[in-house]
Amino acid sequence: MSKVIVFKFGGASVKDADSIKNLSKIIFKRLQNPTIIVVSAMGKSTNALEAILDLKLRKNDISSNIHIFQKYHLDICHQLFPSQHRVFSELNGQFLSLSKLLEEELNVENYDEFYDRTICYGELISTIIIQSYLMLSGIRCSWQDARECIATNSDFRLATVDWEQTTQQCNTILKPILTDQTIITQGFIGRDPQGKTTTLGREGSDFTASILAFCLEAGEVTIWKDVPGVLNADPKLFDKTTKFEELDYREAAELTYYGASVIHPKTIKPLANLNIPLIVRSFLEPDEKGTIIHNVPKTNQTPCIVVKGNQILVSFRVNDFTFINESHIHQIYAVLEKLKLKVNLLQTSAISISIVIDEQIFKLEKLVQELAADFTIRYNEKLFLLTVKNHHEASVKELSANKEIMLEQITRNTFQMVYKPIL
Ligand code: ASP
Ligand code: MG
Repeated sequence: MSKVIVFKFGGASVKDADSIKNLSKIIFKRLQNPTIIVVSAMGKSTNALEAILDLKLRKNDISSNIHIFQKYHLDICHQLFPSQHRVFSELNGQFLSLSKLLEEELNVENYDEFYDRTICYGELISTIIIQSYLMLSGIRCSWQDARECIATNSDFRLATVDWEQTTQQCNTILKPILTDQTIITQGFIGRDPQGKTTTLGREGSDFTASILAFCLEAGEVTIWKDVPGVLNADPKLFDKTTKFEELDYREAAELTYYGASVIHPKTIKPLANLNIPLIVRSFLEPDEKGTIIHNVPKTNQTPCIVVKGNQILVSFRVNDFTFINESHIHQIYAVLEKLKLKVNLLQTSAISISIVIDEQIFKLEKLVQELAADFTIRYNEKLFLLTVKNHHEASVKELSANKEIMLEQITRNTFQMVYKPIL
């Protein structure tokens, strides 16, 4: 069998009937190799499911939100399929089991597990619709439940992959199908040893594509995006951007670490380990080349700007008038590790430690609870973290305008600031 190719389509590329038709055209033209298509939930439907969970947790009525979620998918199907098509009964089956699940008790204790059980419906439903549409368009393809392949631990909402088990499952389940059919499967979801649904973290479908590619030793992964490739800044935020023709694995990984949302941060490593090229290209202009991420010996000097929203700046001040020392840092980091909170930026002074973290439900409260006895803790929410790699003075000055800057850090290569926009 020739090398497997993995394609990944995110929510924006399958947000409506026209997008799904476009996806099918893209696939149809590129079926030379055995192919796996990884698809996310359609449009903003993961957010919609999160909103439902949020309402339910606060004991609000969710019926109209459920209705909107169902109607969104049904409207798309009415544009793609004849009214008697079997996709409608399959969808109704999914809607029914989702509604049943949402009648169960949800509370702070079971939230993460319940979240994964609920949120996976976005991906399950989108792949059911798209598999049906591809078949209707004459592409022989098989629907695969990703949970049968992606084995994880039980850290709900941010599960860790069991690589050995996953490799074994991918080889036994996927390889035989790939000999004569394209496979379509869900991004972002997996299964723990007890058979419970897990997820890999928001926007984790890129990572799924990379996991499958690694386990099957694929020839190439393509992520289809609404941008022409990897750019040096988000075109939704900046007017002048440059597209990279190619980028080194390390460089791309660093940009994702700072929050570049073009690729999920965990995507690069498995591919780099096996030297599998990652191509980021536009589903709007599928014949354009995009960006290829692989081994590039020379380092890039173009300034890259990454803006990450929903940031919280937390500062810990020691209560007993001692200076900040290693044991304070150790103590804080131990709690951060326990809560699975990643520090996006760290700054220490004589009497305080400041960290910047992503906003995540319940986490800040828990962090404060655990450390309140030893530190006076203050925090600011709704902030942005801006990172400029390969900065020069002019770019930094320009970027600092109209912002209330709360913290700044500068090294030879990298400039970072935490700010609140001045409206
Ligand atoms: N649907 C999930 C999310 O929106 C996974 C993904 O899109 O990659 O986070
Ligand atoms: Mg998504």
